[in-house]
Amino acid sequence: MEVVLAEKYGFCAGVRVADKIVRLAAARGLSGGILGQVVHNESVEAEMARLGFPTVDSLPDARAHAGRIVFSAHGVAPSVRDEARRLGLEAIDTTCKFVTDIHREIARSLEEGFFIAIFGQLGHREVVGYTKDLDRSRYRVFYDLAEVRAFDWVSHPLVKVIFQTTINAETFSEHVAEIRKRAREVLIADTICYATKENQVALRALCADPSIDAIVVIGGQYSKNTKELARIAEESKRTFLVGVAADLDPVAFRGMRKVGVSAGASTPDYDIAAVVTALRAF
Ligand code: SF4
Repeated sequence: MEVVLAEKYGFCAGVRVADKIVRLAAARGLSGGILGQVVHNESVEAEMARLGFPTVDSLPDARAHAGRIVFSAHGVAPSVRDEARRLGLEAIDTTCKFVTDIHREIARSLEEGFFIAIFGQLGHREVVGYTKDLDRSRYRVFYDLAEVRAFDWVSHPLVKVIFQTTINAETFSEHVAEIRKRAREVLIADTICYATKENQVALRALCADPSIDAIVVIGGQYSKNTKELARIAEESKRTFLVGVAADLDPVAFRGMRKVGVSAGASTPDYDIAAVVTALRAF
């Protein structure tokens, strides 16, 4: 079977840097706990654990791992950094630059009197990092159009719109238009990560090829941007979302001659290579 890779896929710059920082620390003989998955990918998580950096669920758990804590590319709220200091933990910070920029944008906008409308997933670690320390009356996380319509915008005339980095902003154009109808001034922060966007654009180009029978999207089960890629592919092609090569079912590809492949921003190169090798062998 012929396999065509999207022009752009896989690890983004932020994840590459996070991965590199932890590897360099391990090479120096250091160990520590990573607060939540370093990136949303199970293969990378298992590998980091082998290198001496297992995932931990809370800051105190890091005491058992050389008293060192790694903050993931998703970033954390300032109070989490303060708490790590209070516990005497040494921190290794792999927060992506794009995420840091959004933390700054939110702080600046609040000082200027804006209400913050965040489009993203409530409970996603990146969003939790932005909101954990904020006054609840100064922000709201939205996803559904109905929530936007039902919200009391009259009491919030100045609105700054922030998108979670990995979200497809075009999906929310109607939502933003609704806010514009209701609030006096609406400004949109340019917070979409271009790495994610590039993967999406390249995948759309792949999907436009009529000779491709199906698309395989590779990524971790908690990776939002991987799921977004699968959603885009499903619009026009039969789509398979897999974590690793072992998830592929050869029977499902019977009769197909050509498949396209893309991968989320947290999917390591070795998982992509293994999936491509397995597909070519079908
Ligand atoms: S997807 Fe974008 S925001 Fe997220 S870690 Fe990668 S470069 Fe940073």
